[in-house]
Amino acid sequence: MTFTQPAGTTTAHETGAGAAIAAMIRTLVIDTANNAPRSRQRRIGPSEVGNPCTRALAYKTLDWPEVPVADRDPWASIQGTAVHAWMAELFEKRDPKGERYLVEKRVTVRQGYTYDSTIAGSADLYDRASGMVIDWKITGITSLQKYRRHGPGDQYRIQANLYGLGMENAGEKPKRVAIVFLPRHHVLEPYVWVDDYRRDVAEQALARLDAIRELIYKVDPEKNPHLWQLFPTSPQAKCFFCPWHKPHSTDLGEGCPGATQSS
Ligand code: SF4
Repeated sequence: MTFTQPAGTTTAHETGAGAAIAAMIRTLVIDTANNAPRSRQRRIGPSEVGNPCTRALAYKTLDWPEVPVADRDPWASIQGTAVHAWMAELFEKRDPKGERYLVEKRVTVRQGYTYDSTIAGSADLYDRASGMVIDWKITGITSLQKYRRHGPGDQYRIQANLYGLGMENAGEKPKRVAIVFLPRHHVLEPYVWVDDYRRDVAEQALARLDAIRELIYKVDPEKNPHLWQLFPTSPQAKCFFCPWHKPHSTDLGEGCPGATQSS
């Protein structure tokens, strides 16, 4: 079998047939991942509402063109998707009639007046017996240690409570929210963060999102690019995963240089 090697996709230690196969696999995986339905989602989802970076939320609200996908590596999200599917199957098999566990249940956090302002998504798991909303996070070792020491941070806490609100809207009675951090490395030592369900946390996050949306309509950064500066970054911004991250960019209309390079 012969593989054609795409230009510029090998490293110095890869040679010959091995390099061609590595390049072919990488191209196949990236193309498939970047054309998956999740990658094409245009509406802000519960996992994004608590994004600490106001600028990223503004880009998303405006459906701003993303930095070309070939420049980004989808491997971490592929691992996340695969583990989510595995966990979903586990609980579906455990409770085939869905009497106790609701798996990947689609919920509406807020029904907006327009498609864009509606917040909806699929909650990883809901345990009716304990009224607990559960979210899986697949995490590298450094982040896992950080979450153990400092908790999950606002974005994940907001996401968990938004799904709590979604469950409430679906007629359930959520009492607690939990985030299960599953290690990306080879030892199964999860860290589980648990808290009471807080409707007010979800509502405050939705109010912040509405304020960002209002500012967008007011200043129109599309027509007034210098006003992108009104949408600040955050020290907690996760630039590595941001689809608008363009290192060294000096034009926020074309991409963002990242939190550490931004003024
Ligand atoms: S690259 Fe970083 S600072 Fe810029 S929009 Fe994305 S998350 Fe925010």
